[in-house]
Amino acid sequence: MKVFKFGGASVKNAVAIKNVAHIIKQHQAEGLLVVVSAIGKTTDALERVVALARSRQSIDPILNEISIYHNEVIEQLNIARPDFLARFQAHIHSLKTATYQGGEYDFVYDQVVSQGEVLSSLILNEYLVQQGLNAVWADAREYIQTDSTWREGKVDWVQSKTNMKGLAKILQSHTVITQGFIGSTSDKHTATLGREGSDYSAAIFAACLPAESVTIWKDVPGVMSADPKRLPHAFVFDELPYQEAAEMTYYGASVIHPKTIKPLANAGIPLLVKNFDDPTLPGTRIHECTVYRLPPLIVFKENQCLISCKVTDYSFVNEDQIGYIFRMLSQYDVRINVMQNSAISFSFCVDFREPKTLLLIEGLSKKLEVYYNTGLTLITVKNYDAQTFTEYRNKPGVLLEQSSRSTLQVLVRL
Ligand code: ASP
Ligand code: MG
Repeated sequence: MKVFKFGGASVKNAVAIKNVAHIIKQHQAEGLLVVVSAIGKTTDALERVVALARSRQSIDPILNEISIYHNEVIEQLNIARPDFLARFQAHIHSLKTATYQGGEYDFVYDQVVSQGEVLSSLILNEYLVQQGLNAVWADAREYIQTDSTWREGKVDWVQSKTNMKGLAKILQSHTVITQGFIGSTSDKHTATLGREGSDYSAAIFAACLPAESVTIWKDVPGVMSADPKRLPHAFVFDELPYQEAAEMTYYGASVIHPKTIKPLANAGIPLLVKNFDDPTLPGTRIHECTVYRLPPLIVFKENQCLISCKVTDYSFVNEDQIGYIFRMLSQYDVRINVMQNSAISFSFCVDFREPKTLLLIEGLSKKLEVYYNTGLTLITVKNYDAQTFTEYRNKPGVLLEQSSRSTLQVLVRL
């Protein structure tokens, strides 16, 4: 059996959902577990619901918008059977209850924001059943178990695998439709796996079942050597080793969620990235392979913040100060994207996220003199050649540059 994952863009309206159904129909005989994200930008809207409620503003207008959006899709798909609509409305209503139940922000966030995937999977499943497919809706929370790190649930692999034991049998006769992005704790509270985490869900299901392969259906023709919107000569890779794909995601390529590769590589399960608008395109196969002379691969990571820490008394930066910097990073749960030190300063670049980054800067400032720049872009050129090396090093506005034998990174103000 195989795992298919469809993101928010691939189910953003009735036409898109019909296309997804068409793809599923063509492959259902292979045995499919389908992981689906919330439709369109529903997750962003649900995040706003939680934020508005916390700042004591009315959530009714935005809940209404979410409800209207989903109802439109339901009507256009012609699946508005009364019992389905009633079930659906109950879910929308439960959003309100969940929002006002009180408690820690991140906990409430998970209870509310997770509903986007529940709604989309209900719609897709209903449509498939109506189309005569042997589809069955499954609640991912009964299978993927996590700890209670809200918004970033850590998977309990042993328990999740045990939970999925019965799934294989269902998959012999049914196409299973389930949610990306969500799991549940041992005491049955919903936990999300981190934004854009549906790819990761697909990998968790695939590794636990185990599946033959995972296919992520996207609006791009496969994994590309660069973002084609920035570099029109970018091309699609036919195949890539797991390691290369994992590193790309680490440097900021958004084509696959960074946590996706590891469980698949460990289980030797290939990951295919295919185009949902033209399924006949070959796409990219990520698997155990050796590709000689990989061409340069260019990743742009925006919204970077360069932080420079200086010692205030003219002494040199020592291990104590570097230790302090890393303790602060760990305390605020901030990851370094690139770092560099000189005699009197230690500089590093991180994703700029408010309020986290500013709190980190405040913490660092207690012991060090701190300077920072925001609005920067980190460009990583993996497997650079002479031409790309010169081109990117000499870009105007370079603030920091670093290279190893295979990778060049420049932090620039574009
Ligand atoms: N719907 C979630 C998000 O937008 C998960 C996903 O799309 O992968 O973050
Ligand atoms: Mg999404």
